[in-house]
Amino acid sequence: MDYADFFTAQLDALRDDGNYRIFADLERRRGAFPKALNRGDGTQRDVTIWCSNDYLGMGQHPDVLAAMHAAIDKVGAGAGGTRNISGTTHHHVLLERELADLHDKEAALLFTSGYVSNWAALGTLASRIPDCLVLSDALNHASMIEGIRHSRAQCQVWRHNDVAHLEQLLAAQPLDRPKLIAFESVYSMDGDIAPIKEICGLADKYNAMTYLDEVHAVGLYGPTGGGVAQERGLMDRITVIEGTLGKAYGVVGGYIAASAVLCDFLRSFASGFIFTTALPPSVAAGAAASVRHLKQSTSERAAHQTRVAQVRARLDSAGIPHTPNDSHIIPVMVGDPVKCKYLSDILLRDHGIYIQPINYPTVPKGTERLRITPSPVHSQADIDHLIGALETLWAQCELARIPMAAQ
Ligand SMILES: *Cc1c(COP(=O)(O)O)cnc(C)c1O
Repeated sequence: MDYADFFTAQLDALRDDGNYRIFADLERRRGAFPKALNRGDGTQRDVTIWCSNDYLGMGQHPDVLAAMHAAIDKVGAGAGGTRNISGTTHHHVLLERELADLHDKEAALLFTSGYVSNWAALGTLASRIPDCLVLSDALNHASMIEGIRHSRAQCQVWRHNDVAHLEQLLAAQPLDRPKLIAFESVYSMDGDIAPIKEICGLADKYNAMTYLDEVHAVGLYGPTGGGVAQERGLMDRITVIEGTLGKAYGVVGGYIAASAVLCDFLRSFASGFIFTTALPPSVAAGAAASVRHLKQSTSERAAHQTRVAQVRARLDSAGIPHTPNDSHIIPVMVGDPVKCKYLSDILLRDHGIYIQPINYPTVPKGTERLRITPSPVHSQADIDHLIGALETLWAQCELARIPMAAQ
């Protein structure tokens, strides 16, 4: 076999479909974020980032940076080992305490990313619990799907957010069979939110555990940033809450919060937890500072919601179609991978606006979109600039506009 030919042919097929991914080379400016420097084709330009998951700008928060600097100066760069073999530093211990408290659970367990936490926790629970059936929402994140697949447990997929379908599947099983319902609170690409209370009701009725990915909600919802389950007073109804430290908290890392015995079980049996070097202590210190800050400060969350509402209203008056939802994620539907990439390229090249096109396999074919994530660090001028650029582009590309009923 000619290996290089094989790789090239696979990549060419991606290009033909419009699904080949090109990274934007960005240098974020501390203190000026969402502004960044973008390099490419031997040129460099100032851009405004409109698609970051650093939803609140915590990646440049002075408390977070100070905690990271202080930790590096005090204890050095890396953790120096797996958690078991010399890698459990005091910063890890403190962060896990902070996270358990955030979700009002007995314990928390850190992983190197949200992806790894889903993969390792779901994979280990579903494979170790005898005859476990996993019930997985159809739009669950790749990290959950991979973890479930890796477990080799039986898995049934329920239609997205469809509790009637979930109940049908649950009711068909013996009551005493172990079951794990895996779902998300805020779905990252459509921004819709799961009926958490109803799902917990079914879990009680049919004797199932619940596993909730709150990656796009922690830091952002609830009185202390505990997520949608906290906002709705449901944290105690969830068996495992999973979150990331890389999105609203602005650093990196993943975790689960659950009972002490469940965390101890994963600490003891999850390969993806055991056999990897612990996060750098400075990262743990920065994440803890971020979690702590967002526990007591609500101004970022309030400003975030205001900014999101402003951008939505402006898109509406410009007639630019976006999918409504109850979260902070604004999907502007394009419905074609080539057009989506073209729009993104022109926004960057002519307007200095960076919005990555979201194409297959991240979303189904035919639902390609620009995913806009406003944040408290976007100014009124940034919003004016974004809407102006989109209006110009929409006119140029003759993309369908929503008729402006009110005008
Ligand atoms: C981003 C994401 C993850 C993975 O989290 P990381 O910390 O980025 O690895 C997990 N679940 C969902 C729904 C996500 O969008």
